[in-house]
Amino acid sequence: MLDIRVEKTTSPKPIPDKDNPLVFGTIFTDHMFVMDYEEGKGWYDPRIVPYAPISLEPSAMVFHYGQEMFEGLKAYKTEDGRTLLFRPDKNIERANNSNRRLCIPELNPEDFLQAIKAVVKMDEAWIPTKEGTSLYIRPFVIATDPFLGVRPSNTYKFMIILSPVGAYYPEGLNPVKIWIEDEYVRAVKGGIGEAKTGGNYVASLASQVKAHDEGYSQVLWLDGVHRKYIEEVGAMNIFFKINGTVVTPKLNGSILPGVTRNSCIALCREWGLPVEERQISVDEILEAAKSGAMEEVWGTGTAAVISPVGALRFEEEVMQIQDGGIGPVSHKLYDTVTGIQTGKIDDFMNWTVEVR
Ligand SMILES: *Cc1c(COP(=O)(O)O)cnc(C)c1O
Repeated sequence: MLDIRVEKTTSPKPIPDKDNPLVFGTIFTDHMFVMDYEEGKGWYDPRIVPYAPISLEPSAMVFHYGQEMFEGLKAYKTEDGRTLLFRPDKNIERANNSNRRLCIPELNPEDFLQAIKAVVKMDEAWIPTKEGTSLYIRPFVIATDPFLGVRPSNTYKFMIILSPVGAYYPEGLNPVKIWIEDEYVRAVKGGIGEAKTGGNYVASLASQVKAHDEGYSQVLWLDGVHRKYIEEVGAMNIFFKINGTVVTPKLNGSILPGVTRNSCIALCREWGLPVEERQISVDEILEAAKSGAMEEVWGTGTAAVISPVGALRFEEEVMQIQDGGIGPVSHKLYDTVTGIQTGKIDDFMNWTVEVR
């Protein structure tokens, strides 16, 4: 149990009007959770303080070598006023997997959950209630040693900030256009692809810019060795429904193991749909799209939950999926996952955790 010190804000900010659309990740609540780490002392001084800029040495190691880990999950308000987290244990477990890979000290899982609950409880009034909205929770750890040598830091800061968010795609559950990248790669096995860390994102920016310029909203990565097998999308895992079977790339060491991915596989199996986690080549995708065997394509991630894919482009070929519409499995997954998250449907998978 953490003994969390609380310093409340003396100048609360206005909570956004519920009729104004919330742009993803632009507004932050009144408070944040902070805890420090020092070699030999461990994690200390857990506190909830007003959301405010922090002061760091320009030499702080995170700025130079990117030693940092982050997570992303959401809190939802139910119709009867309860606050629910969706599978926070999964995020906490993954955070510690990332920490180990990045030489960041692990966090006690119970303390981590307590910290999330405490800061969400503090700013509970900020959880938006409109359809498709939620409170995005961003825990992260940064290396803070003022040192320009290359080694793991001896000091760290763990923080949790909160942001009320609207639907990730303001147009609603609309199919996205995806660019299959054949020039750059994001990660290779043995690298940091399965850790949730900033380095993977900076590696992705150049192709994201290129894809945007061409009118595509996201990039689909191929494996870094053969440049042939499907990996994942920018911040989403990817699923295909081919000839009645749901297929997704298996976790091979360079793919981020998404909580939404795991939830979709579990739901599809629960519904009796055949699911295969395996290697999928881009050629197989092209062929399935051409022959008509490709029934649906969708991405999964906390931010957008389910993103139906309407078009895929590889080199000079553009594949239309579902005539650009939304497939029934994507739709059912979206309704079920968001239904469980918001308490609208019975939590038959026992996935939600109430914040009291
Ligand atoms: C966070 C993330 C995902 C999605 O994971 P969820 O736990 O479902 O939100 C997928 N790919 C990458 C690269 C990510 O960072």
